[in-house]
Amino acid sequence: MNKCIVCGKEFEPKPEYKERKTCSYWCYCQWAREHISQGFKDNQFIKGQPSFNKGKPQKEWMSKESQEKCSKTYIQYQNTAASPLSSEEGVFLPYNTLRKGTVVKRKSTHRKGKNKGKVEWNYYINIDWRGNRKPNNLYKKYLWELHNQKDLPKGYVVVTKDGNPDNLVIENLMLISRAELLRRNNRGRR
Ligand SMILES: [Zn+2]
Repeated sequence: MNKCIVCGKEFEPKPEYKERKTCSYWCYCQWAREHISQGFKDNQFIKGQPSFNKGKPQKEWMSKESQEKCSKTYIQYQNTAASPLSSEEGVFLPYNTLRKGTVVKRKSTHRKGKNKGKVEWNYYINIDWRGNRKPNNLYKKYLWELHNQKDLPKGYVVVTKDGNPDNLVIENLMLISRAELLRRNNRGRR
C-alpha cells in the first residue's frame, strides 16, 4: 500500500510501478503543477513580453548568409498592370487587381434550395461611393448610395423595378425591405 502525496488516499500501486507516489494521473498533474523546476520557470515567457526582434532592422538579428537565403523568398517587384496602382496606394497589390471604379459582370450559381442550378448575373464595382476600395460591392447598391449620398439602411436591398439586371439606371432602382423581398420570392407558394 502506498499513500498519495497529493490527496492522502491509500492506494495499491500496479506491480510494474511499485515506486509510484500519486494515486491517479489527476493527482500527478496537481503535483507537477506545484513542483515546476526553477529552470523551467526562468525560461518561461512572461505575459506581454516583447519579441526579441521587435522594431529592430533585419541585419541586427540575422546573419548575412541567412539574409541572402531569405531574400530569395521575397515577393519580387514585377512590372504588371497593378504596379502603378501599388505605388499610388502605397501597398503591394496582386497583379490582377482592377483599377478603382471598374464595373464587372459576374456569374453566381445557386448551390441549394428551390433555385438550385439557377444562374444569376450581377454587376459589381470595386469601390464604395466615397471612393474607398471595397470588393464585392453590388453596382446597383453603389448607384443608389451615390445618388442618395448615404449608406444603405440596414435590412434593406436594392432591386430593379422591371426585373432586368442589365437595366441599371437610377430611375429603375427601388429600395425594398428584406421582409418585402421574402414575400416577393415566395410569391405563388401559398
Ligand atoms: Zn491522490
